[in-house]
Parts: sequence; structure tokens; C-alpha cells
Amino acid sequence: MSKITPITVAYGDGIGPEIMQAVMHILMKAEAKIRVETIEVGEQLYKKHYTSGIAPDTWESIERTKVLLKSPITTPQGGGYKSLNVTMRKTLGLYANVRPSISYHPFVATQHPDLDLVIVRENEEDLYAGIEYRHTHNMRESMKLISRTGCEKIVRYAFEYAVKNNRKKVTCFSKDNIMKFSDGIFHQVFNEIAKEYPKITNEHYIVDIGTARLATKPEMFDVIVTSNLFGDIISDVTAEISGSVGLAGSANIGENFALFEAIHGSAPDIAGKNIANPSGLLNGAIMMLVHIGQGEVATIIENAWKKTLEDGVHTSDIYNPKISTKKVGTKEFAEEVVKRLGQKPSKLRVASYASVAAESDKKTTYKIDVSEKKTLVGVDIFVDMNVNSADSVAAKVNPIDGGKLVLKTISSKGLKLWPRDDSFFMNSDHWCCRFMPDSGEITHEDITDLLAKLAAAKVDFIKVENLYNFDDKAGYSLAQGE
Ligand code: NAD
Repeated sequence: MSKITPITVAYGDGIGPEIMQAVMHILMKAEAKIRVETIEVGEQLYKKHYTSGIAPDTWESIERTKVLLKSPITTPQGGGYKSLNVTMRKTLGLYANVRPSISYHPFVATQHPDLDLVIVRENEEDLYAGIEYRHTHNMRESMKLISRTGCEKIVRYAFEYAVKNNRKKVTCFSKDNIMKFSDGIFHQVFNEIAKEYPKITNEHYIVDIGTARLATKPEMFDVIVTSNLFGDIISDVTAEISGSVGLAGSANIGENFALFEAIHGSAPDIAGKNIANPSGLLNGAIMMLVHIGQGEVATIIENAWKKTLEDGVHTSDIYNPKISTKKVGTKEFAEEVVKRLGQKPSKLRVASYASVAAESDKKTTYKIDVSEKKTLVGVDIFVDMNVNSADSVAAKVNPIDGGKLVLKTISSKGLKLWPRDDSFFMNSDHWCCRFMPDSGEITHEDITDLLAKLAAAKVDFIKVENLYNFDDKAGYSLAQGE
């Protein structure tokens, strides 16, 4: 008999409490060996002015149990609130978000009877760093941060997942035709690590055509690894086309902690009505049981749940008079699953999990490689000037004596506008002035001297990006037309 494992549980917002009660009822009746510590997070805490939706002492429970089962949380829009989900993923180092989707054809209506895939989504980086700025009256910026070590961690996780779960292919989705540095390194690392797994087929799609194929021929895919934002979008698409966004669970895995949840949100439109489907959270709980070494209980629950689906007992999101036999509410659905504990599905794949606790991820140290020679070769200085041509910007900036630094180009929104032969007008208040020496390297002092001169000339510089070469290769993008 497995030992009692303490877990932390958050009932969440919207439909969260209803679906968690349903899931806890099933876990208790299936005799999961867990001791529950309940924490309060989300809306209640936001209202108490905890801007991340969690009180500082709440982390203690998670630190102790290392495992969290969490209902969805409502993130208040605007007003400086940070998403609790993103805060938790980053604080707990949950770098891998694993989102399986499967078709339950013919018991749940779907146009994709053979859909059976897993999305491995990078969970800590990308636009979810949430670093944003308003530079000018007109222009705002969200930073997309991608590290090589972050790519290495998630890509290796995806290949290891494929090996352990008998999957045959890993597909990378990226947009490296446009974002050559950030998505470029994701794709490059994918190619490097794929070579270490010759038995697993690998392929790459640009995310737009990849998503189109996923939405129309999902059976082409097995494991998909991608960055944070793309992963978020494509996993909702996948869950929805499998039958309902209410079906899929998700595991957020790190080296020391793990968090399990449904992929959907708090669905305020149906909250408190006892109609939400608890299956997504239940599938998250099943992944949790496997993770803590209670595969037998996970097996019993998953089989009972599949039998309930097969028997046509459906919540309203998947209810279809042609296939369903009974429409039930959240509570009643849980009761129907409990009635079937010990039974197996007859057509859907019978679950069978081993009761072995997931080895905590190999503590691979991802070292930052500093072998390339890094050289400071210039600076992009972004300025706020509300004018309609780059010539007006040049007229103000070019006469300033930049010492070693010479104004080479002016661009706006990535398009080079100065110098150019034809006149081109653009209304903008956001201009990038690229300064470089005529030859050789520069120092940080060259840049600060130039900034001092721009300040004296009352040029409102709003952002400074240093330009570096790495082993003589440019570490910065060229503007279109440069
Ligand atoms: P949502 O996933 O909550 O709802 C989208 C649609 O799907 C709604 O029509 C909803 O009724 C339906 N739906 C979702 N779950 C269902 C279920 N279990 N059963 C039946 N129908 C279900 O997405 P949203 O409306 O964009 O977001 C609502 C809130 O949830 C927002 O505040 C958002 O920030 C938050 N959110 C939280 C998480 C999380 O906690 N992990 C994830 C996504 C969104």
C-alpha cells in the first residue's frame, strides 16, 4: 500500500470550487492516499490587494508538499494585477507544461477520431515574462525573452517524454522565419537535441501552417514542443477539436515542484450553475496521482471516467442527443464516475499506470555557454519624436557629435527610412537611431558620452539597446532595407 502523500489544493474561482469538489469526491471514493492542505488563492486575494493573487505565507504549504492541484483562477484585467498562474509557474520553476489531448470518439462528438497528441509547452519564458513598457504616446512594447538554456530544458523534456511514453515523433512549432534570434534559437536547439534521439522522428513547422494542420489533421502529430504563447494557443485549439475545452488536463512540471490543473479557465459565464464539466481537472488529478506514485488509483479513476463517457452520461458541453443517454450536472457526473469505480471502458483505451513515483527530473545543469567572443559594436537609441519623416529625426540627431559613434541608419517599426534615395513619409513618434563606429569596437563610455550629448540637445531617448557581435556574427537584427 502506498504511503499517504500530502498535497496542496486550491479551489480557485468561477467554476473552480464546483469542479474541485467533484474531483475531490471522486479521489476520496477511489481511496487516493492523499492528505489535503487547502490554500486560498485568486480573486479573494486580489481583492485584499495581493497583486499576484496569493498571500506570502501561502507558499509555505506548496513548499512543504511540492505538489499542487489547482482549479482555474480569474485574473482581474488591467490595474497592475499579475496572473497568479504565471507567477506560480515562474516562482516554482515549472518549466514544462504538458497538455495531452485525445479523442473519445465515438462517445464524444469530434471530427477527429484519431486525435491523440501531447503538447509540451515552454512555461517560463517568451512573452509571458510580462515585461512591458509604454515608450511614447503611441508605442507600447512587450518583451519576448528566450534563453538557450530554457530551450534546451524544454526540448530535452519533450524528447524524454516521448521516449518514456512510447511516442514516436516530436514536432517543433516556431516562427523562426520572422523571429530569427528568439525562435531561431528554439529551432536550432531542437535540431541539435533531436540528433541525440535517433529513434524518435523529428520535424519542424512554422507555427501558422503547423496550427492549420493541427486544426484539420491533428492525427499527423504525436508530441509537439513549442514556446509559451504558441503552446497556450494550440493546446486550446487541440482540446476544443477533441470535443471540448472542458476535457483536457495539464501538468506543470519543474525540478522540485509540480502543479496539476485543467487547461481551461474559470468560465465565469457558467459559474455556480452546476453545469461545468469537471473532466479537465479530473484528468489533471489523474496526472498528479501518476506523478506521486499512485498509478493504481489513477488507473481506477480513468477507467471509471471513460466508462461514464462510453455510457453516454455527459455534461452539457459534450452532450449530443445523437450519442448521449443522459445530461448531467457537475455533481451528478462525479457521482456517476464514482458508481463506475472498478469498471473498465469497453471501446476506449483501458488505462493502466504503474505505481512508481515519477523520478524527480534529472538535475541536468544547464550551463550558460560563454565561449563565443562578445564585442560591443554599436548602439540603437530609440527616440520619441512626433514627426512624419526620418529626415526630421536626422536633422535633429545627426549634427550631434557622437565621437566614435556615427549615425548609420534611422528606422521605425523595423523599416529603414534614413538614409534612402526616395522620400518616404511615416507618421511616428518612435524612431530607432543606429550608431556604429566607422570601424572597430566601442566602449560603454562611448555610449554614455553620446547619451549625455543627446540629453543636452533635448532628444527624448526612451530606450537603449547595445549592439554586440558574437564571434564576429551580428547579435542584432537588421532593419528591413538596411
Ligand atoms: P475559459 O476557459 O474560462 O472559458 C472559455 C469557454 O469555455 C467558456 O464559454 C466556458 O463556459 C467554456 N468552458 C470552460 N471550461 C469549461 C468546463 N469545464 N465545462 C464546460 N464549459 C467550459 O476562458 P475565458 O473565458 O477566456 O477565461 C475566463 C477566466 O479564466 C479569465 O479570468 C482568465 O484569465 C482565466 N484563466 C485561467 C486559467 C487558469 O487558471 N489556469 C487558464 C485560462 C484562463
